[in-house]
Amino acid sequence: MKDEKCIFCKIANGEIPSKTIYEDEEFRAILDLGPATKGHALILPKDHYANLFELPDEKAASVMQLAKKLGAQMKEKLQADGFNLVQNNGECAGQTVFHFHLHLIPRYEDDGQKIGWKPGKPTDAELDEVLAKLG
Ligand code: AMP
Ligand code: ZN
Repeated sequence: MKDEKCIFCKIANGEIPSKTIYEDEEFRAILDLGPATKGHALILPKDHYANLFELPDEKAASVMQLAKKLGAQMKEKLQADGFNLVQNNGECAGQTVFHFHLHLIPRYEDDGQKIGWKPGKPTDAELDEVLAKLG
């Protein structure tokens, strides 16, 4: 299913040109136009899913296998020293395009990027409160 108003639907299905590094029946992987590092790419499903929670389980499994394959290729061909996978869901999590995408970010020594968070300092009781809900 496609969404007429979604730019990633148009890119994934070839209606808008992109720097495609990989394509199969289900997915297209493109270079990000605002890359964090050299080779930063996005895997897009060709069907429209707004986020991870809409993505069917089989596609979620396939997208991870594809990330592993393309990541290995990037490490080899771009001589990357490391690799981040990033996948944002929801505006407060940094999602700006509401069509599922997985960021493949090759990392290089001294690339000057920082993908991370400020570590919290929860008390044992605070951790237990979360544990009671999730554990
Ligand atoms: P997110 O913040 O996780 O929703 O990521 C959206 C990503 O899409 C950003 O890294 C943008 O640089 C990238 N982006 C947006 N529009 C395009 C486009 N037309 N072609 C390639 N990358 C894009
Ligand atoms: Zn879409």
